[in-house]
Amino acid sequence: MDLNGKIAALLRDFAAIQKSKQRMWGYKRAAAAVLALEEPIESLMQPDGTLRKIPNIGPSSSRIILEVLRTGSSPTIEEAIAGSGQSPDIERRRELRGHFLSRAQVVAALRNRRLVGPTLADYRGDLQMHSVYSDGSQTLQEIIETGIQRGYSYSAVTDHSYGLPIARGVSMAKLAEQHRAIDRLNASYRDRFRILKGIEANIRADGTVDMSREELQQLEIVVAAPHSTLRSSADQTSRMVTAVKTPGVHILGHPRGRKYGSRPGVTAKWERVFAAAARLGVAIEIDGDPSRQDIDHDLAGKALAAGCLFALDSDAHATEELAYAETAVAHARLAGIPKERVINCWSLEQLLEWAEGRSRIG
Ligand SMILES: [Zn+2]
Repeated sequence: MDLNGKIAALLRDFAAIQKSKQRMWGYKRAAAAVLALEEPIESLMQPDGTLRKIPNIGPSSSRIILEVLRTGSSPTIEEAIAGSGQSPDIERRRELRGHFLSRAQVVAALRNRRLVGPTLADYRGDLQMHSVYSDGSQTLQEIIETGIQRGYSYSAVTDHSYGLPIARGVSMAKLAEQHRAIDRLNASYRDRFRILKGIEANIRADGTVDMSREELQQLEIVVAAPHSTLRSSADQTSRMVTAVKTPGVHILGHPRGRKYGSRPGVTAKWERVFAAAARLGVAIEIDGDPSRQDIDHDLAGKALAAGCLFALDSDAHATEELAYAETAVAHARLAGIPKERVINCWSLEQLLEWAEGRSRIG
């Protein structure tokens, strides 16, 4: 039982029914603090029955945490929900938290030697992240320096494509400018680190991506990912299969587009999507952003059975978010994915050979 996940979910429910914005943010902050704990929250109980101080958790959230630790549930929150008239909305949110891992569960999965799958030491580079060229805050140089600190030998910068102006998608002119900057940095970090020229192309409603074949050919790594029609329960198998079959696509990024407690993401017959990806050698991403965890270890088991390759990525928009790759590695371990199937565990040479092969044959 993951009490961190359970308590964080309850605090999020409580936040959702608050009338005051300030209280709503307070409970949301507390939920985030619990989800980010490195250890099981029950280990923070002190002999006198109080809770060790956790940053960003105020007295009323502390009372709820203690209530759950003592009784296994929170009558305070359940009664408040029942009295709020928002029970259906809370029920809906609760269904959208399946197979999300708390940070404590991530840490446990990384440490658990009985699990097969990649370790952090096997992980050589991150293949989805955003820089100041689109909606990220990290510079290319910061990506290199943090990558080196994390023991990587490469990373792909995958800013949003121009078809997604809401995420400050890069124009082709801006992309050319970025490529010149990457060439300069790669020359000065030669033999130490390599930035791969990537993009996160947007998958449109019909499954095509928002860049032409010629444009995609200017890139070393193309992540194609859905950013719209993520709340529809209509089947979108053909959309996702079309995206996978698009020449020049290397990775199907955050395949569902789900969000913790708020958005179900794409509905599809995933076995068919994974079968197409396996046949074509397109990698399925496990996006490690804690609010995405997309796909999760459960669905990843199906992709593994289909014979897929995997990309385990942070989807970082800031250097401190590069650690989100660890969440993806934890899901891969829980799914039992052998490291040979994880393209981030390949050498740069093997990765480039695969990427070039995919760009050629499409
Ligand atoms: Zn995205």
